[in-house]
Amino acid sequence: MSESCSFCKIMLGEDQASIVYEDDRVLAFMDLHPANVGHTLVVPREHWETIYDIPEKALADLFAVVKRVSVAVKKAVGAEGMSILQFNERAAGQSVRHFHVHVIPRFRGDAISKFIGVMLGPGFKKVERQDLDEIAEKIKENL
Ligand SMILES: [Zn+2]
Repeated sequence: MSESCSFCKIMLGEDQASIVYEDDRVLAFMDLHPANVGHTLVVPREHWETIYDIPEKALADLFAVVKRVSVAVKKAVGAEGMSILQFNERAAGQSVRHFHVHVIPRFRGDAISKFIGVMLGPGFKKVERQDLDEIAEKIKENL
């Protein structure tokens, strides 16, 4: 637990949240600033800041909930798609420093298409195989 963490405050019942799911390890609640109606956050009860810190088992438990919540959100809001987003550290856009996964229902032509559309894929220059192999080797050395 971190006293200054807004998600830990929710875990402790010191702050309100619109909870959709909870068990002894994971909590899921509505994002206060939803990108679309139904935008839900899935959060481990224990305070880990980033993907680097969270144990693999805790991550596996969390993603089982991400899947269940995604199916429920899709049905609840009639989503045409689902974006699963997760950010680590300020440079990547992490605002609350308690690991969390965004479950964001999507609709064709929705307002966030223009952001996510340019975030990944053909908006970026294609890289030559040799350069991809080189960085792949560097990553493999660190696994
Ligand atoms: Zn926390």
